[in-house]
Amino acid sequence: VPETHTGPGDRPGVLYIAGAGRSGSTVVARYLEAAVDACHVGELRYVWSRGVDERQLCECGEPFGQCHFWSAVLAGAYPDGVAPVRERMAVLSGRVDRLRHVPGNIAVARGRRDSADVEAYADCLVPMYQQVLRVSGSPVVIDSSKDPSYLFALHATGRIDLRVLHLVRDSRAVAFSWTRVKSRPEVHWEDQVMTMRRPTLAARRWMENNLAVELFGRVGPPVHRLRYEDFATDPEAVTSHLVGELSLERRTGPVPDPGHSFSGNPIRFDRTPLRVRPDTAWTTQLDPRERRKVAVISFPLLKKYGYPLW
Ligand SMILES: [Zn+2]
Repeated sequence: VPETHTGPGDRPGVLYIAGAGRSGSTVVARYLEAAVDACHVGELRYVWSRGVDERQLCECGEPFGQCHFWSAVLAGAYPDGVAPVRERMAVLSGRVDRLRHVPGNIAVARGRRDSADVEAYADCLVPMYQQVLRVSGSPVVIDSSKDPSYLFALHATGRIDLRVLHLVRDSRAVAFSWTRVKSRPEVHWEDQVMTMRRPTLAARRWMENNLAVELFGRVGPPVHRLRYEDFATDPEAVTSHLVGELSLERRTGPVPDPGHSFSGNPIRFDRTPLRVRPDTAWTTQLDPRERRKVAVISFPLLKKYGYPLW
């Protein structure tokens, strides 16, 4: 990467995909990366633990930090090495990026409180986003971390130009996905499967995460809600709508192949063209009793998002 490349402004543009786990964010992010001028980095929140510490595989197949993309990003962001930054992040994440810190982060974002922790956190994190833009030559980073606590933390820094896509998916489809056994090819040193959850726990987390994103919509920048089912039915129409709503640019150059997204659904390793289609397996395969329990736990938001209750 030439040193003379004009860097982005101080506030890197980030399209943040927020919501509950297993809502289809990897599919949406991959589709968007191909359609608009943006760089999909995967789940940047987990780059410290799963990337810097564990060296899990990047989408390109190399261990994190070894492919040309991430080595250029890390070298540009942390000229003194990533190790000291990682140590600071281990402490700061617990002080800034937790749901219990949301009220504090709202106060910081509104300028009602100063926080040395949030400042230090931004000093660690913002250079990473800036370097992703520099190395990829993109105007926007797509970050599919999803966690609302991280979203509030990013907003509190005041140093990121945030656009927020709230991705929702029927809680019963999400709960069913948590019961399925999926391998994790990015953990290349042993056989691991993705975490599994009981449907009722998945439903409670679904409520928690979506309510937190709803709260963000009231106190932070505008939040654009997208139902995964609507996207899966007509991804092109949805994308056209999002391009306008989120002030994105259509991609004119080639799509990065392979991309360098990190952490997320294993489908990101699938090199065959992305097929987007509605996944309704839960309607026949999720136990009817579990399905009812999930509906009971999540009914206020199911209703709000326009899903049939029974
Ligand atoms: Zn890579």
